[in-house]
Amino acid sequence: MSRILAIASGLALLLLAACATTPAPPRAAAERPLTILVSIDAFRADYLDRGVTPNLSRLAAEGAHGAMRPSFPSKTFPNHYAIVTGLRPDRNGIVANNMTDPAIPGVVFSMSNEAAVVDARWWNEAEPIWVTAERAGKVTGTEFWPGSEAAIQGVRPHYFTHFNMATPSNDRVDQVLAWLDKPPAERPRFETLYFDIVDAAGHAYGPDSKEVNQAAATVDAAIGRLVDGLKARGIVANIVVVADHGMAAVSASRRVFIDDYVPKGAYHTLDMGPIGTIYPEPGREAEVKAALVGSHPHLECWERGRLPERLHYGHNPRTAPIFCLPQTGWVLTTHDAHARNPEGGEHGYDNASPEMAAVFVAAGPAFRHGVTLPTFDNVDVYPLLAKLVGVAPRPNDGKLTDLAPALAR
Ligand code: AMP
Ligand code: ZN
Ligand code: ZN
Repeated sequence: MSRILAIASGLALLLLAACATTPAPPRAAAERPLTILVSIDAFRADYLDRGVTPNLSRLAAEGAHGAMRPSFPSKTFPNHYAIVTGLRPDRNGIVANNMTDPAIPGVVFSMSNEAAVVDARWWNEAEPIWVTAERAGKVTGTEFWPGSEAAIQGVRPHYFTHFNMATPSNDRVDQVLAWLDKPPAERPRFETLYFDIVDAAGHAYGPDSKEVNQAAATVDAAIGRLVDGLKARGIVANIVVVADHGMAAVSASRRVFIDDYVPKGAYHTLDMGPIGTIYPEPGREAEVKAALVGSHPHLECWERGRLPERLHYGHNPRTAPIFCLPQTGWVLTTHDAHARNPEGGEHGYDNASPEMAAVFVAAGPAFRHGVTLPTFDNVDVYPLLAKLVGVAPRPNDGKLTDLAPALAR
């Protein structure tokens, strides 16, 4: 027994000696700043220039900002998942807000289908950054993000909240801050925060409305609350603010009526408006294809697998058999449909349209001051996040080189 004790104390002495001679790890590695990814749904890149968002403007001046090209289609779920996986919708599996999968028969995935949103089968084609971080032993917290409620590849964020559109913007910020008040070992190293009131105002009143500016100002104040809350706690963070897409004004005079081309009973659709996903009824495939595929005034339709290469879309079996894309600002509809606001706003359009450009603002110790970036693809945000969080990025469609000018050496 005493021999074992003697060996043990000898080992302890050796360890102490080793500690005395081994240099301490560099502080930066030991204290990697927290990363917070903030999404302001439908905050178009140029909203930053409206003079209504002083906190975002301050972050942009202290860090980097630019316009980001969303992935196609410029819809909410596909783009949120592209940002946290670095894979475009065709490869991340979230090809639309509404979709079906031949491998998941009888289910229509939609944002409001709570059973589908928490079902990992829809999300498992990609690995979001919080899963990679959790696997690397880093605590993560998500105050809303598409996919965060599912156990993707068996892993959920350490902290997450079920989506609730009614949660006020400030309460979302307070939840993100509350997780940072946990004991040190339980504090997240990566957090997400999501705001949706700018999107709601954009749809209802259009991108050029005072309501959009008011919503932008409200979210901006919430971001100010976040920055102040971090400062009060002495927490250093890299804050990356993104949007999933922009917003285009639509008008009652810019409508394409699909029933002018193909009879109603010949197909069904899961999305109609700024995009159209068309599923011919059994036996009517040839008729629908002949009527729709090709160019029409203000509308173009393609078969699955035949979309232009630059859209990187239409190969995943979850994409619709026929995909229609109106010209930006035009809406695909039927003569008997009631539009939510024919003079409001829409997104989903060609991701190269300037109206679809999304905001990007990043500030914190990882970023140089006052950098304006040329337009880049939103999948580039993922390798940036991996670098900030300190995990090896999974294979992805993004390029860190596009964002390199923003990074402090
Ligand atoms: P969109 O139809 O593409 O404009 O989608 C925007 C809407 O997506 C928002 O108004 C939210 O209601 C909804 N949304 C955003 N995040 C989530 C989520 N994590 N779960 C369910 N719905 C969401
Ligand atoms: Zn959105
Ligand atoms: Zn929207």
